[in-house]
Amino acid sequence: MTDCLFCKIINQEVPATRVYEDEHVIAFDDINPQAPIHKLIIPKCHIHNMNELESDHNELLGHMFQAAKKLASDLGIADDGYRVVMNCNEGAGQTVFHIHLHLLGGRKMQWPPG
Ligand code: 5GP
Ligand code: ZN
Repeated sequence: MTDCLFCKIINQEVPATRVYEDEHVIAFDDINPQAPIHKLIIPKCHIHNMNELESDHNELLGHMFQAAKKLASDLGIADDGYRVVMNCNEGAGQTVFHIHLHLLGGRKMQWPPG
């Protein structure tokens, strides 16, 4: 999608600090981190939000979670704990409409989230 910020990051039209990349996903630092570690894991294909997920995407979703798990381990937060979040639509706080997992860690998390 030409007007999608995260597609532009994938295409390197917008800069981002990449921390992981493979055939299906990239991960990069969130520009406005909500924790000492805050990464975004996104698929290379454009999917607007969680409501648009099809069963065809199941493998891709598993891949995104595997990437988050690997990053958490590589960043040293696997044992202390971390949070993985996907917001869907404005009411949940979605602001960029290309699905992404937030990986948050490096501090004690509160529950419930705001
Ligand atoms: P959402 O609110 O949609 O769940 O998450 C979008 C995330 O993208 C936010 O945490 C926001 O800080 C991050 N973000 C917005 N614009 C940019 C950008 O240009 N670069 C990076 N690296 N992150 C961004
Ligand atoms: Zn996109």
